Amino acid sequence: MKRTDYCGRIDRKRLGETVTVCGWVHRRRDHGGVIFIDLRDREGLVQIVCDPDRAATFAIAEKLRHEFVIAATGRVRPRPEGTINSSLVSGEIEILAHDIVLLNQSLTPPFQLDDENISESVRLEHRVLDLRRPVMQKNLMLRHKATMSARRYLDAHGFVDIETPILYKSTPEGAREFLVPSRLHHGQFYALPQSPQLFKQMLMMAGFDRYYQIVKCFRDEDLRADRQPEFTQIDVETSFLDELEIRELMEGLVRSMFKETLGVDLPHPFPVMTYADAMRDYGSDKPDLRIPLKLTELTDLMKTVDFKVFRSAADLDGGRVAALSVPGGGSLSRKEIDDYTTFAAVYGAKGLAYIKVNDAAQPNEQGLQSPIVKFMGRDALAEILRRTGAASGDLIFFGADREKVVCDALGALRAKVGHERGFATTGWRPLWVVDFPMFEFNDETRTWGARHHPFTAPKDGHEEFFQTDPGGAIAKAYDVVLNGWEIGGGSVRIHRPDVQAKVFSSLGISVEDQRKKFGFLLDALQYGAPPHGGIAFGVDRMTALMAGVEQIRDVIAFPKTQRGQDLLIDAPSAVTEQQLRELHIRIRASDAAKNA
Ligand code: ASP
Repeated sequence: MKRTDYCGRIDRKRLGETVTVCGWVHRRRDHGGVIFIDLRDREGLVQIVCDPDRAATFAIAEKLRHEFVIAATGRVRPRPEGTINSSLVSGEIEILAHDIVLLNQSLTPPFQLDDENISESVRLEHRVLDLRRPVMQKNLMLRHKATMSARRYLDAHGFVDIETPILYKSTPEGAREFLVPSRLHHGQFYALPQSPQLFKQMLMMAGFDRYYQIVKCFRDEDLRADRQPEFTQIDVETSFLDELEIRELMEGLVRSMFKETLGVDLPHPFPVMTYADAMRDYGSDKPDLRIPLKLTELTDLMKTVDFKVFRSAADLDGGRVAALSVPGGGSLSRKEIDDYTTFAAVYGAKGLAYIKVNDAAQPNEQGLQSPIVKFMGRDALAEILRRTGAASGDLIFFGADREKVVCDALGALRAKVGHERGFATTGWRPLWVVDFPMFEFNDETRTWGARHHPFTAPKDGHEEFFQTDPGGAIAKAYDVVLNGWEIGGGSVRIHRPDVQAKVFSSLGISVEDQRKKFGFLLDALQYGAPPHGGIAFGVDRMTALMAGVEQIRDVIAFPKTQRGQDLLIDAPSAVTEQQLRELHIRIRASDAAKNA
């Protein structure tokens, strides 16, 4: 029996024809003498009818159970009146089986494939069965459509797909790396690439002009809903274009992917926002523009009030006081406000002061309800109302702390309140965030680190600030943000060896280490490196957004858990003493005991 059709594709047009389909028994219903089978393949379901007239076929149908694999041949006929299922392509027809071949049996599956409430660990442990579920088939097909669309666009614009090594070298590029011990070189290690960043730059130096690769990247970092230890990027680099030209070309890629995959027209052009404006107005460098709420700056004003908590944050070097006004928030209960306070605390906020605006015409203890009102003069209160635009019935939250804490806490609160209280609009709101700082200060190590990566070019002239005011140096770096997710980021690169060396020095990488870790780059830069730049898009995040799922694991065939494990294949796992010996590795006893 040769398959003629996919189950899920047979429709009215095939009425009267004889077809053969292959697939899995999704459901089997015995209707007193007639057996109905919903047969499933990657394209969907089709109903197969077996009647007792054909004894041999009927006998096989009687034995079928969930997930048995069969081939069925039969005639396509209309479903009887009243049994039409308009949610299926094949919903108007059924196949009257002439012949069924049992291709394989199945144990009883550990869960019903159409059960929507299976725990994620059960799903991941039985990923093969989980992937059979129509929703997972749809997600991975969508991913395929999206990456095919990207390939078409990039090919049409002259980008060349070139592979780069997975066995790379340990370098300080930002994230923690996975190391791979070398058997042939005693005591030496490869590292898995955090991204092919320097290879793609060297391909530009090698004259390929435009490169792309849909590639795995590896970062040994703490995991979240939108992070995996290995994830996929559409990695792009181009020569001889400036920042604006690169952004325009890459915006076209995103637009074309959304158009071809979802039929969605994204705005043209994407709005552009500076990093400073994003932090000021949204407390985030990836603002969800579907939420219209904005933060209000109060730092200058709070330098004039007596309320110590606000005043000291305003006077602090690098401190900030800001407000988030919630229209209609006056109706929030004590419990709801407490919950938001607990939420803000996760981002380091020590409290979440608020004012309920009962009567906006009275900026005093009569009109405003809050323990903090009595510490602030009428002028300051009136000015808070003026700046936030709060009206009677609204509620104003305040953040006062170091700038980072205020931005993180109020930024996250804005998104949470916005979604929970129904302020978010639907649709797609992409934007570019540009003009990122070159460096950011790490409070723990008390050192400057690269905000993007150490190969990002400063704005023209900004290398002057490296020594005097590293925090003031702006980079030619840009992110694409969509509905609150960073879906891509890139930069114009440094193509002059002297500037590259200066950046390494600003990051505290000694001249000796620069040679040891990045000698290959510094050398290649000496032989006529073209101006170049690029970007990388997160395929997992983009497709998760397209599929409308909350976590990237749902668009990855074989993902890792939050603890970095693959529950299907049971990785990571121990290896034999012999393997370790070959790699010249000994597991420290104390670590082994800890992990046991
Ligand atoms: N390699 C960078 C990253 O993975 C992207 C880029 O700058 O092109 O974030």
